[in-house]
Amino acid sequence: MADNALELSEVTFGYSYHKPAVEGINLQIPKGGFVGILGPSGSGKTTLLKIIAGLHKPWYGSVKFGTTGRRPEIGYVPQVESVDWTFPVTVKEVVSMGIWDNSGAGPWISRVAGEKIRSALESLGIEDYMARQISELSGGEQQRVFLARAMIRLPDILVLDEPTSGVDYNTRETILDVLAKLNQSGATIILTTHDISGVAKRLPWIVCMNKRIISEGVPKEILTNENLLETYGLIDRGDG
Ligand code: ADP
Ligand code: MG
Repeated sequence: MADNALELSEVTFGYSYHKPAVEGINLQIPKGGFVGILGPSGSGKTTLLKIIAGLHKPWYGSVKFGTTGRRPEIGYVPQVESVDWTFPVTVKEVVSMGIWDNSGAGPWISRVAGEKIRSALESLGIEDYMARQISELSGGEQQRVFLARAMIRLPDILVLDEPTSGVDYNTRETILDVLAKLNQSGATIILTTHDISGVAKRLPWIVCMNKRIISEGVPKEILTNENLLETYGLIDRGDG
């Protein structure tokens, strides 16, 4: 356990009785790991991330974190399409939420915090949007705002749900660069994707899932036709 950021053993969870969305998940993620979870729509990726982030409690099995003497800080970046921004809030306000709920200090932004926000937005190329309403931004821009909010908390584990879905090529590259830098500075990163060539192939470690884990390893060994056919539901090995 010492070198693992996270260990899931036999984790099963679902939304309705007798119908698990994820089943028997055994997964160990080392400290400083950078892991992509690959699977088709409905395969349980979001559910698994929410379990990791503590938003769902498994029916069975356990989720354990590395022993640092404290619960690790987990940053969770939701799938952008899942968020409904019907209330008026600016980019700066959204990003600064990452600071408030840490300090409990209240709804003012110190100069130091303001600098942190600006530098996070700069690294993502959206510093000019500070005062804009979040609802006016494109999906790719909103995605980067969420990422900035998670970044300024310097989480031990950063969990991102489809951080590159629906973004253009340049934004995808910016997001992957920023994540690689965060990873180099020590953060453990777990993301989901269904983009095999643009994202999965470029990560150091891939987990293929479809309700259960199908295989995991380095992309070269894992992204085989057989694994992909099984992940995407085209091969049935007859074990359920
Ligand atoms: P993915 O992120 O891989 O697309 P999800 O984790 O969102 O998959 O969904 C896995 C399964 O759980 C799907 O069958 C989905 O319909 C179901 N599901 C997800 N969220 C809910 C929910 N809030 N209530 C009921 N069923 C859900
Ligand atoms: Mg999902």
